[in-house]
Amino acid sequence: MNIQEYFVSLFKGIHSLIKGMEVTGKELVTPKVTEQYPENRATLKIPDRFRATLQFVYDEEGNHKCIACRSCERACPNGTIHIDTRMVDLPNGKKKQKLDKYIYDLGSCTFCSLCVQSCPTNAIEFSNDFEQAVFRREALVKQLNYLPEKDEPAPAPAPAAPAEAPDKATDEKTVEKPAVKVAVKADDAAKPANENQENQ
Ligand code: SF4
Ligand code: SF4
Repeated sequence: MNIQEYFVSLFKGIHSLIKGMEVTGKELVTPKVTEQYPENRATLKIPDRFRATLQFVYDEEGNHKCIACRSCERACPNGTIHIDTRMVDLPNGKKKQKLDKYIYDLGSCTFCSLCVQSCPTNAIEFSNDFEQAVFRREALVKQLNYLPEKDEPAPAPAPAAPAEAPDKATDEKTVEKPAVKVAVKADDAAKPANENQENQ
């Protein structure tokens, strides 16, 4: 290497070093995108549509909309859902199948959402609560209807029987009968008189 080649190589090295420092300097002032989990748990933003686990939709009064139709159980491709039902008496005297336990195994769920789409009453949905790590597989099997199932409403009281109305027809008969009898009797009484008059 002669002196000229030496200086060319030296300037190339310095140019490369400046370029590398330029990239490093840019990254120093660029906003960070790395999530510092779990330190940032309070500010962590998980997309609303992220499918973390299946859950029941309860209203403010603790009612859910599951009618135990088993549509979701049939739609699930890998038997993740198991539904236990029981028969209850209705106020009208008929019987109805009611949900007892809705069992969901998070460990075998593929998050395909077929169960949610097949539900006719929108009784289930996916939560985006992604912190589902447990130490035992059995802990991944959950009962989704975790609130006590409510009883069927008591039968409505039977309407009071109306006060017995007087039987008009019967009364008329009872009133008329004596009149007729009297009239008949009067006729009968009159007959001999007339007949007597005619005879005289
Ligand atoms: S998301 Fe798919 S795999 Fe999971 S319970 Fe629903 S139907 Fe089954
Ligand atoms: S969650 Fe929906 S589809 Fe499943 S049993 Fe209940 S009502 Fe039927």
